Amino acid sequence: MNKTILTGLRVNSELTLGNYLGALLPMVRLANKHSKDYTVNIFVPDLHSIISDIDGSLQENVKRSLKYYLAAGLTLNDHIHLYRQSHVPAHAELTWVLNCIAHMGEMSRMIQYKEKSEGKDSANVGIFDYPVLMAADILLYGANYVPVGEDQFQHLELTRNLAIRFNNRFGETFIVPEDTKTQVEFMGVAGGIRIRDLVNPEKKMSKSTAGDNCKIMLSDDPAKAAKKIMSATTDSFEDIQFDLTARPGISNLLQIEALINDRPLDEVVAEWQGKSRYGDLKKQVAASVEKLLTDFQSNLAKIDDSGLDALLQKGEAYANDLANAKLAEVYAKVGLR
Ligand code: ATP
Ligand code: MG
Repeated sequence: MNKTILTGLRVNSELTLGNYLGALLPMVRLANKHSKDYTVNIFVPDLHSIISDIDGSLQENVKRSLKYYLAAGLTLNDHIHLYRQSHVPAHAELTWVLNCIAHMGEMSRMIQYKEKSEGKDSANVGIFDYPVLMAADILLYGANYVPVGEDQFQHLELTRNLAIRFNNRFGETFIVPEDTKTQVEFMGVAGGIRIRDLVNPEKKMSKSTAGDNCKIMLSDDPAKAAKKIMSATTDSFEDIQFDLTARPGISNLLQIEALINDRPLDEVVAEWQGKSRYGDLKKQVAASVEKLLTDFQSNLAKIDDSGLDALLQKGEAYANDLANAKLAEVYAKVGLR
């Protein structure tokens, strides 16, 4: 049986160039690279989405996020499965069983939970429990590789612990996903990318940052986005050097240029370092960004809802078959069947 790569990108709103280069594109490239020899599950974690805000506009965002993968160049084949988490009820059902073997102590130690709930009496239980839902997302499909950012490493460890605990108690049931070190090796560079804020490059680019010039949204007018690059903060040294600490602005541009064109960073740095004309580099990066957005937006406009619905129907039938079989095994082992 092929090994499984599983990924879900939460999309509650528009994405930035940072989300695109740091999360979406690495996933698409990983899927395209491995989908001949691996099973690739790409799902929309819509149950996770309602943890932060329930505002009724989710449907549109869910569809849009799936279209983003396609517009970013995901090449579909029979090994790639697209589905929505809420359309595969076994995710929620397995979560309940795993809740009953997870410990309050280990859950309370989750950094994301601590950060998001600190001092808030009204923090919802979903914020506390979503790492278990994430474990269910992974374990239902026997996923080996789950490319996630550093902020999710602890949740991946929890997933491994829950799988091992269940297996020890009830017999071999779950495939234990690879540890984080192996995940990072598998992902390559994808784990460590941090695109910076264009105005305050010591910070990362975030969609929740207020200033329009700080960030590039995927829906930005491409020419306008190019102007944002041209006016990005750099430094007043004499020549171009890559140094994310001392010169985050110019280094950010070098990184953007490398990622968009799928070139090794070293190669792009070697091409530019020591040169004094910052403007030339900006012009090139601006052109790369402008082309990226133009292509992405034209791809996006071509994807129609009916094509997407057909993909989801197929993907969700596949996911339900697999997930229900695993859930039945779990229910039998714990004595519910
Ligand atoms: P928010 O400001 O609401 O936190 P965000 O832009 O940080 O939004 P998230 O929804 O937190 O986006 O993250 C979505 C994905 O994008 C995650 O995988 C995250 O690691 C990645 N990501 C976010 N910002 C960047 C960035 N500046 N560079 C690279 N990857 C990023
Ligand atoms: Mg964030």
